[in-house]
Amino acid sequence: MPKDIISRALSEGRNFLLEPEAKLLCAYYGIPVTKFKIARNLDEAKRFASEIGYPVVLKIVSPDVLHKTDVGAVIVNIKNEEELVRAYNTIMENVKKHKPNARIIGMIVQEFVPQSLEVIVGVSKDPQFGHAIMFGLGGIFVEVLKDVTFRILPITDKEAREMLREVKGYPLLKGYRGREPLDEDAIVDIMIKVSKMIEENPMISQLDLNPIIVYTKGAKVVDARIILET
Ligand code: ADP
Ligand code: MG
Repeated sequence: MPKDIISRALSEGRNFLLEPEAKLLCAYYGIPVTKFKIARNLDEAKRFASEIGYPVVLKIVSPDVLHKTDVGAVIVNIKNEEELVRAYNTIMENVKKHKPNARIIGMIVQEFVPQSLEVIVGVSKDPQFGHAIMFGLGGIFVEVLKDVTFRILPITDKEAREMLREVKGYPLLKGYRGREPLDEDAIVDIMIKVSKMIEENPMISQLDLNPIIVYTKGAKVVDARIILET
């Protein structure tokens, strides 16, 4: 199954997997991802949103839009059908405005999961060392402070656990001043599964689970992107 998703993308001349494809691959390896469906039109979006249950999130699915927020193509916490219609039209307008020639495959409708600490797990391939896995806290921690840590793959449970403790923002995970600790085991589990995915699919040259939202119990990948070697 993973091979099918990857070979289809390559046969379509793409060196990357779109969010729904990347999430299918993650789900295959047991990585928890948000429930989702791909709507080809507004009527489908309405049907899928009520099947998944409000609140939902809408995002564009386009091979020409990899950073969806940058073009106003992610709308979260949509509470009812009226808001859904508005969000759908807004995203379509935003994409047409910023990327007039973007090919639009559809709209991903997914469950809106509660806010909590966001972390990032990434993989990149170094010509010398091979695949390396990165862990960091999301948002400003990674973008501004570069508070991240790396290991060469494959990794063990113990190494993944060490990585969490290496970032300066670790107290946010561990819990501080009476804040409940978040689920470190859930992140370690995702990292081990990522390690396995890369071992079995070495043609993946880059993977971004950005962000993974972490709770006191469990964690969920809300955005995933995979780049393939060509
Ligand atoms: P981008 O392509 O811009 O990285 P994302 O899919 O990561 O788009 O969405 C942008 C932000 O919206 C995420 O960082 C996250 O904070 C929030 N978000 C996205 N999907 C969900 C979801 N299903 N539930 C809750 N929040 C979400
Ligand atoms: Mg993202």
